[in-house]
Amino acid sequence: MSEDKQKNRVALVRSAVRSLRAYAVPDAGDMIKLDAMENPYQWPDDMIRGWQDRIRTVAMNRYPDSRSRALAESIREAGLVPDGCPLLFGNGSDELIQMIMLSVGGRGRKVLAPVPSFTMYEMIARITGTEFIGVPLRDDFDLDFAAMIAAVREHDPAAVVLAYPNNPTGNLFNRDAIIELIAECNGLVVIDEAYHIFSSATFIDDLDRFDNVVVLRTLSKLGLAGIRLGYMTAPKELLAEFDKVRLPFNINVLTQLTAEFALQHFNVFLEQAERICRERKRVERIMDSLDNITPYPSEANFVLFRCGDCEAEEVYQGLLQHQILIKNLHSPGTALQNCLRATVGKMHENEAFLNALSLLVTTDYSLQ
Ligand SMILES: *Cc1c(COP(=O)(O)O)cnc(C)c1O
Repeated sequence: MSEDKQKNRVALVRSAVRSLRAYAVPDAGDMIKLDAMENPYQWPDDMIRGWQDRIRTVAMNRYPDSRSRALAESIREAGLVPDGCPLLFGNGSDELIQMIMLSVGGRGRKVLAPVPSFTMYEMIARITGTEFIGVPLRDDFDLDFAAMIAAVREHDPAAVVLAYPNNPTGNLFNRDAIIELIAECNGLVVIDEAYHIFSSATFIDDLDRFDNVVVLRTLSKLGLAGIRLGYMTAPKELLAEFDKVRLPFNINVLTQLTAEFALQHFNVFLEQAERICRERKRVERIMDSLDNITPYPSEANFVLFRCGDCEAEEVYQGLLQHQILIKNLHSPGTALQNCLRATVGKMHENEAFLNALSLLVTTDYSLQ
């Protein structure tokens, strides 16, 4: 085919899509991987054997249960949601965000979120033809309440999306501010609790009080990033609408069965989460003692930190030289200027990271 013809084909793609950049996922190779908020721990051997026994029984020739009913039961039994709480599942909570925006977004509609926050909110808004309104957080990364209220009044968004705790900053927004915001919104308030397991707070027990709140959860950060499973709850009339944009068999049999099995061993994951939280506190403390490094308090399984006199880009590259992959969030002139984000890994991984970091910030920079 000629080049011109090929160009015409690409022009078929909506400009909102053409103007996006594909979500980039770096290849970690053999590096210590502290970039993606994964749980670093494996399952105990006997648990793996139990899972293998179950997986042998799967009817791979059949479509999965479209409603994932047994899985919903396992989530309730693990105590993750209150009794009677209706659930809808997604291929990761990313897909749930997409389902919500497909439902309430589109031409002439807006979604609003604080920035910096999870980048997929804006990306999915743009893909679904929804205008994205970003409202800057305060310097301490809490909500700028006055600015949020003003923006909600001005734009009347179909949905406000709040990550609780927030990614990439790690903090919990002020709860009273969120509750006032919920009262102020005509639209939905989507509370994305991807990191609830590491945090002291949740809105899952408060849903009875509101008719416009949606809570999103995922098993990814808990330790099951590989199976892609998110769940959400909302008033059941709303969930029934979201269910219409869900593709019928979005949760495959292996994911359903694996998640059910894992949730029957939920204590294993709770203990891992506790270990991760203990490690997080240790990592924060050590980072805090380093010259030129300012860690931000985290309620999640990662730590955002700002490099002082040194360049974040050079620190990031230096860590790569040490075979350590974290996330570079540096963007000049933004709230994340000179900021990097490190996931909490196993103790020896964190040690390698902290040793390399301290070497980089002391030898390379502060002595200059
Ligand atoms: C990681 C993350 C998600 C996506 O989780 P998946 O279930 O893996 O798609 C959603 N929201 C926030 C805030 C996240 O950090």
